[in-house]
Amino acid sequence: MSETAPSLLAIGAHTGDVEVTMGAVIAAHTRQGGTATICHVTLGEGGHKTKTPAAYAPQRQREAEASAKILGADLVVFPYADLGFAGGPDVVAKLVDLIRERKPEVVLCHWPGSWHSGHTQSATCSLQAVETAPIARITTAAPPHRVKAVYCPENWEDPFDFRPSLYVDVTEDLPRWEESCRQHELFTGGASSFRYLDYYRGVMAAHGAVAGCQFAVAIARPYAFDPRRVPFLPV
Ligand SMILES: [Zn+2]
Repeated sequence: MSETAPSLLAIGAHTGDVEVTMGAVIAAHTRQGGTATICHVTLGEGGHKTKTPAAYAPQRQREAEASAKILGADLVVFPYADLGFAGGPDVVAKLVDLIRERKPEVVLCHWPGSWHSGHTQSATCSLQAVETAPIARITTAAPPHRVKAVYCPENWEDPFDFRPSLYVDVTEDLPRWEESCRQHELFTGGASSFRYLDYYRGVMAAHGAVAGCQFAVAIARPYAFDPRRVPFLPV
């Protein structure tokens, strides 16, 4: 592929969400000339089965830094606590600032149909920030910026009404995806009993079978009011 991939901003609720669900897409983009920023809204420090949040937080920061480096992405971590995260206008404002500062062409975020409240809040804030960032009368330090497209990769915790319409061929990027995920204790069995790497490698193989390649990430467009005017019904 000779075209340069677009610039990305990938937003996740917890450290690891972006890497395990969107990491292969990020690796594909940076390999093909795109730039990428990963934003963790929280460190996800409340998710360890034995470690306290205070003990786990600095580890998660180190894991996120190592993982982003492997994916060729910049890293931004917001200072919100994981447990009890409830989104809100302050989070939206910080995401608007980030979008205006980084000027991504594409935003990746959680699919809104999630059983995890932190993911739902993160998705809502991400979509609100994309809607707000181009509005000129809302002034911030950086000028307005319009994101061209928003996509949601598949996440086992965000399954409700998820219907993919795009498959990104990540066959070349699986080794870098796995290496980035292995920086996280969460994905190597120490912090959770969920078999993340087996699950995501399996679904990427299944989607690859559908898409005609070895491994693919399934992508859906988020809910949007996106009216189009046409002179007659398209066929
Ligand atoms: Zn999460």
